Amino acid sequence: MTAVRSTRRDILVGLIGRGIAASRTPSMHIAEGKAQGLHLDYRIIDMDAADRCHLTLKEILEQVEREGYRGVNITHPFKVEVIPLLDELSVNANAVSAVNTVVFDNGVRRGHNTDLRGFTESFRREFGSRPHQHVLLVGAGGAGAAVAHALVDCGVRKLSLYDIDRGHAESLADHLAGKAAGVSVNAVADLAAVIAEDRPDGLVNATPMGMANRPGSAVPPSLLAPQIWVIDIVYFPLETELLRAARARGCHAVNGEGMAIFQAVRAFELFTGLPADPDRMRATFESFGRPTPDTPGAGVLNGDDLEIQDRRRRQDSLGLSNRG
Ligand code: NAD
Repeated sequence: MTAVRSTRRDILVGLIGRGIAASRTPSMHIAEGKAQGLHLDYRIIDMDAADRCHLTLKEILEQVEREGYRGVNITHPFKVEVIPLLDELSVNANAVSAVNTVVFDNGVRRGHNTDLRGFTESFRREFGSRPHQHVLLVGAGGAGAAVAHALVDCGVRKLSLYDIDRGHAESLADHLAGKAAGVSVNAVADLAAVIAEDRPDGLVNATPMGMANRPGSAVPPSLLAPQIWVIDIVYFPLETELLRAARARGCHAVNGEGMAIFQAVRAFELFTGLPADPDRMRATFESFGRPTPDTPGAGVLNGDDLEIQDRRRRQDSLGLSNRG
């Protein structure tokens, strides 16, 4: 295969993951690159595709590096698996023990975690310098770990971690212990008791509950009260059952769009060395709600994305689609 050496204004990047055909990330990067006069191509590298499903993550990483990619975003299920394949980790990637962005720099592979920055930036823009004493984080998986670190960075003094798998909450609590002096982090077993007795200022859903293929809410709506703010980092769809219930009860409710945009903003900066315009990237992200005549359905939000994704995966497995 011919190597495509990137020049400064000619940048090739991509996204490695499974079932990612409907991701909005490529459009955000391509539109931002275009607006900045770059020739930026962002390719979907779906490891479920028929021509790749026999490859290992190590092989695909070697391939993209050989082909002149400036870097790649890494998503489910490779954010942890990629770590031993890298030469260096950023402070945030090291703290979270997960990588969602890899930059290739003259033979050195650097891993970053832009989910953490994505949540921090979006949280600060939403709440400003308002203090938050106690936050309940529901879901202690990969994204939950990034959110937990971000909440500590944002000055939260007490963090309660709940996960249906108690071990996940306990191991994240252990991991966070000592990160910030004076911050108390505890795995909790009873969601209702924490909300009723410990009265958190806010709660964050970092479980997949509420996604189009995981309907429902990890937090029973009856536990919500107007003084508790609610963030749901799910963005597939943006309006989850939890957020609907939160709004109905008068809570300040925030969706996962900001985190998704700001993680992409940071990744763009890492790939190109140039600052990205968050408003422009937001406009591209939001354009997914408006299907265009030449891409019927490609921009549909709210669950249809998953059907399109499934359809494309079926096409991939039949060798009908030719992407990346
Ligand atoms: P993950 O599988 O690594 O972790 C999910 C965690 O939730 C697991 O620990 C699981 O045990 C727990 N869980 C599942 N159901 C639960 C329930 N009913 N109650 C309590 N805990 C439960 O997944 P992840 O990578 O952390 O992603 C979680 C969600 O975050 C996904 O929906 C993903 O799309 C979203 N996400 C959003 C952004 C963004 O930019 N907005 C970024 C990353 C991930």
